Amino acid sequence: MVPAIIGVVLLVVLVIVAIRMISMKHLSDEVLQESIQGPAIHASGIYSIIRKSPREDLFRIRPPEEEIRKYLASRNEDIHRRALLEPDRQRLAEKWRQSMEENIRAVEQGDAGNVEFYYFDCGEHQPCPVCASYLNHGQFVSRQEIFNNPSLIPPFHLGCTTRIMPYRGKENLKETAALGMAPFFSNGTPPPLPEWKNTVTLP
Ligand SMILES: [Zn+2]
Repeated sequence: MVPAIIGVVLLVVLVIVAIRMISMKHLSDEVLQESIQGPAIHASGIYSIIRKSPREDLFRIRPPEEEIRKYLASRNEDIHRRALLEPDRQRLAEKWRQSMEENIRAVEQGDAGNVEFYYFDCGEHQPCPVCASYLNHGQFVSRQEIFNNPSLIPPFHLGCTTRIMPYRGKENLKETAALGMAPFFSNGTPPPLPEWKNTVTLP
């Protein structure tokens, strides 16, 4: 009876030791992996950047100008209940077009300089009131994240003044953190962005 109990105890101990050894091996593999590749955000920028103009992809997912003008024509006030007059509608439609161009150009110019990170410029003095509840000035995204999610390129809604800017620093995570910049993605999925119909009259 006693040897049987000792046998069982020994077996349990052996199983526990084996489990520990396996999990330690996993852990050291992970550490090794990270030391080879660096943190995920670095890895995403080094070998998989696809520098193709985001123009086509962005125009495909954004409403066409005709739809924008039609929508504006149906609105009499903005989200702050400020009256929308015909000149305001014209300016909003024009601003949308202009802003699409400027932001696409910012990425194209960044690509020309091999920029890996971009940050959101929400306008330090007069941040976009709609975007303020979705993102912070200086939050950054990688070029790869933009490629995977062209919807990250402003304007996000009618009257949006947020811009995407190439980050021309040394593009390493430590530097951006030192500047108080935080990544926009927290777990690999894009956080929500404003719906394009949120209309704010232009200042
Ligand atoms: Zn905005």
